[in-house]
Amino acid sequence: MTGAPREFDVAIIGGGLAGASLAAALAAGEIKTALIEAASDEERARPEFDARSIALTDDARRIYTQLGVWKQVAGEAQPIREIHISDRGHFGMARLRAEDAGTETDALGHVLPARVLGAALHRHVRAAAHAEVFCPARVREVKEHEQHWELHVSAPGGGMALRAPLVVLADGGRSGLAAQLGIAEAEPKAYSQLAVLCQVSVDLDHHGRAYERFTREGPLALLPSAARRYAVVWTGDARDAKRRAALSDEDFTAELQTAFGDRAGAFGEPSARRAYPLRRGRAHPLGRRAVSIGDAAHVVHPVAGQGFNLGLRDAAALAETLRAAARDGRDFGGRAALESYAAARRRETARVSGFTDGLMRVFCSRSRPLGFARSLALAGIELCPPAKRMLLWRTMGMAAARARE
Ligand SMILES: Cc1cc2nc3c(=O)[nH]c(=O)nc-3n(C[C@H](O)[C@H](O)[C@H](O)COP(=O)(O)OP(=O)(O)OC[C@H]3O[C@@H](n4cnc5c(N)ncnc54)[C@H](O)[C@@H]3O)c2cc1C
Repeated sequence: MTGAPREFDVAIIGGGLAGASLAAALAAGEIKTALIEAASDEERARPEFDARSIALTDDARRIYTQLGVWKQVAGEAQPIREIHISDRGHFGMARLRAEDAGTETDALGHVLPARVLGAALHRHVRAAAHAEVFCPARVREVKEHEQHWELHVSAPGGGMALRAPLVVLADGGRSGLAAQLGIAEAEPKAYSQLAVLCQVSVDLDHHGRAYERFTREGPLALLPSAARRYAVVWTGDARDAKRRAALSDEDFTAELQTAFGDRAGAFGEPSARRAYPLRRGRAHPLGRRAVSIGDAAHVVHPVAGQGFNLGLRDAAALAETLRAAARDGRDFGGRAALESYAAARRRETARVSGFTDGLMRVFCSRSRPLGFARSLALAGIELCPPAKRMLLWRTMGMAAARARE
């Protein structure tokens, strides 16, 4: 360890999408922020670090536009203009379009590679006057003092200590530091499923159409990711998903075509398949002068593409709370400043996690009567504009945007 501790107002442990988004939101003000990320820029740029393409809601675009980040990624963001939901082996299907939602753009949301967004956020934070990025640097230990935390950080050039009255845990539940910070861990329960991810080409234009197809094995999503390319998220029982991930390119494409059908065209050129274990869990985000955001606070099934959108709204709401406390000269590490933030986030997290989990239970059930009821529900949504609007408001973050206004 070298030198006296460096002083900050907020220290964020973890520079994944949630931590880096919070740092970007704080960088817009005068709150002195340290962002500490263990994986180097080169490591994070590799597909094996994170192969995910993230479906961002229109609310997320609005948040990043306000932060000045959207213009850096807009060129790589693929708009979602329509979502097609179907249930394999049943008659029901629903189409949700941008005009059904009444958004201010003609897109329901956008798809972006997680790596592209992460790199843009890090660049943005590095350019900010009141923020500093420590990367690669790993927080090894935290020590509690009455009015601040001291963080012991290891980095290739040698160790260092940082000091801040508030620590934000954005480690994705991976650092093992939650207990020391007095934060309850989300203690995620594993679903008995894995998601297999890859990119495939297609011989038809996708016109911005995303697909969510529920199959007996689990949901199969196709997200438009570039011209004539889809990001595939194929969820299934762990053993079956592992088998699928290990198939040759030819066999994988053939199985995908059989499971999905011809609606989107003929698939080809699959990229390397990567399997992600799926979990769910949530916990109270407040500790002693510490608060958790993103996957450190909650993990949801990716079926409705809600996980990071929820984490981004944590970051936006926390930044707003801290800016207000700083304006009023209040101790923003104190519990009083953070209680109402935590209560509001717990309500939204419970709603999103209940919705996602319910969706999984209803759509992955093999019960025949439930299959029939599902088809009726999808057909009902297709025929009923207010039902479409309600579903879109739930899934595309519009209710959250309205609540912030
Ligand atoms: C298959 C799949 C598909 C998904 N699709 C979507 C989608 O379409 N839309 C959506 O909204 N969400 C989606 N999600 C969810 C989304 O990917 C996550 O919610 C999001 O990536 C979590 O970001 P995070 O920053 O909270 O955590 P993480 O990405 O886990 O980042 C945590 C960071 O902390 C760092 N770290 C850990 N410990 C330390 C330490 N001691 N010191 C310093 N740094 C440390 C790590 O290196 C890491 O970079 C999906 C998830 C899965 C599994």
